[in-house]
Amino acid sequence: MSARLLEGRPVADEIWSGVDRRAARFAQLAGRPATLAQLSGADEAAASYGRQIERQFTRHGLSVVTSTASLEHIRALNADPRIDGILLMTPLPASIDPEAIDPSKDVDGQHPFNLGRLAQRRVGFAPATAQGGMRLLLHYQVPLRGVQAVVVGRSPVVGMPMALLLLAADATVTVCHSRSGDLAVYTRQADLLCVAAGKRGLIGPEHVKPGAVVVDFGTNPTPDGALVGDVETGAVLDVASAITPVPGGTGPTTVAILAEQTLQAAEQRLAN
Ligand code: NAP
Repeated sequence: MSARLLEGRPVADEIWSGVDRRAARFAQLAGRPATLAQLSGADEAAASYGRQIERQFTRHGLSVVTSTASLEHIRALNADPRIDGILLMTPLPASIDPEAIDPSKDVDGQHPFNLGRLAQRRVGFAPATAQGGMRLLLHYQVPLRGVQAVVVGRSPVVGMPMALLLLAADATVTVCHSRSGDLAVYTRQADLLCVAAGKRGLIGPEHVKPGAVVVDFGTNPTPDGALVGDVETGAVLDVASAITPVPGGTGPTTVAILAEQTLQAAEQRLAN
């Protein structure tokens, strides 16, 4: 068997085309583009991700302002009617907490208010990476209702929201973490295996049930400057029925969802 590659680009393109239409309409009605404020510390990888967000947002009719993360900045952005969304880039200074963001501007779903709504299966902003993973599964018509899903990783950014979103889609979900012991015991049960641990080579073919769908959120830089996931993709291709590549799988959908959720916040603000 050679698994189908679930590419993220067509999924992201689909999201961006909706964003294009909504961004133009919002700018016409509001007299300004929908705007995201991104706040970061001194980390160069975060700054580079921030530049990538800015390029893509600008290309699709949204605007980005960038500043250094401080509580004063967050308070000012919360009160600023020209700012629709606020994104805290990690790693952040210890003094900065996502709880400082106005939940109605928390377009990456990091505030406990939004994560709580997600846990209660109520409408709110979900973390963009997890939401992007769900859109990818939807795009490729991967069955979710009643399937056995295993999520490896329980961070509030990827693993936990992915588990909650899958639960809301009626999958039966097991969440594994660094204290789970023998991962294969759990992962081999999975019809759908989602991995977000940040550990290169964590999941090999012995962890995968034949015919499973595998979603690899991991992004691990290699010494030669490439990027690999948490799954040994080459070897798992022979066991799984479908797998997301790294790069080019879950990555492209994240920024597109962030733009979509920024527009949603902007439209809600305009309507109120
Ligand atoms: P994180 O905060 O470090 O969380 C990692 C999670 O994996 C934790 O829950 C940890 O368990 C678990 N874990 C670590 N080692 C494990 C092991 N040996 N066995 C089982 N579980 C293990 O990382 P994150 O922010 O969630 O990111 C995870 C990965 O996704 C990273 O590679 C990151 O770069 C990537 N990512 C990708 C995107 C994208 O757009 N595709 C966006 C964000 C992040 P404990 O809770 O027990 O510590």
